[in-house]
Amino acid sequence: MYPWLIPHWRALSQSAEAGRLGHAWLLQGDAGLGKEQLADRLARLHLCHQPQGGEPCDHCHSCQLIDKGNHPDLGALPSESKTIGVDAVRELSARLQRSAQLGHGKVVIIPDAERMTEAAANALLKTLEEPAGDSLLLLIASQVSRLLPTIRSRCHKHVCHIPPEAVTLNWLAEQGHQGTLAQVRICQGAPLRVLHYLEQDQDKARQELLGGFVQLVQEPTRISGLCSQLGQDTQVRLHWLQLLLCDALKTQGGCGHQQLAMPDLAALSHELAERHSSEQLLDAEQRLVELKAACQPGQLSNPTIHLMNWLSHWL
Ligand SMILES: [Zn+2]
Repeated sequence: MYPWLIPHWRALSQSAEAGRLGHAWLLQGDAGLGKEQLADRLARLHLCHQPQGGEPCDHCHSCQLIDKGNHPDLGALPSESKTIGVDAVRELSARLQRSAQLGHGKVVIIPDAERMTEAAANALLKTLEEPAGDSLLLLIASQVSRLLPTIRSRCHKHVCHIPPEAVTLNWLAEQGHQGTLAQVRICQGAPLRVLHYLEQDQDKARQELLGGFVQLVQEPTRISGLCSQLGQDTQVRLHWLQLLLCDALKTQGGCGHQQLAMPDLAALSHELAERHSSEQLLDAEQRLVELKAACQPGQLSNPTIHLMNWLSHWL
């Protein structure tokens, strides 16, 4: 288990041992913390035939079936699709109503639960209101505010926090990566995001994207290229843009390099700070917050249109 999750696991396993697990849990916290590991282990514990001291035994029939990926009483919605529709939730609810094939409870995991459409969320609500006796529903979410309040209120909540930067840097070193504090901060401190960032060599992608953005005013023909760059890994890239705009504002306020979120790109934030007024930068930043919300997974509208609008407005 990831080192920063161990204290969280202890708390959850103690709840399970004390019989306080209930029927539904919402595991919340920023993306990139690996909350799925907590859900997987809770599922394993709930289904285990011989749990010991709040831990699954890892060798009973149930634990073995989970290892093979074909436990009949464990269901998980796929994590790849953009939205979770009502049919998927109904199927899952029906699964929880059936009796357990191995007689040791049933578990359903919903990763990125904020992807549920309104109809899907309403269907889930019915299951939460009338839970089957031995069932456990595990919702995982990074943006809890996008879940229906009625769903949130019917789940036990467990919040995972961003670990201290030193924990992340140590763990990265164990994975063979020498990350920097700046890179940890660019990824908002979430260890798995930093790992992805380093593995994908995203320093280069960030420099290219933000350099292109600063040049956009002089070379408006770059707009469609920039739009397609923003189309991949959109939330991460919009976050980089936001950091750049904030750094430009800080530069206008007289902050030095070391106070910037991205000191390596100080030349770019200086250029923006000289060319644009604070009002323009603030306005762009505010619109960017709205843009990020409009481009969230689970939103049905086409993100390209929103990205294009934002870039055109900047021009
Ligand atoms: Zn077991």
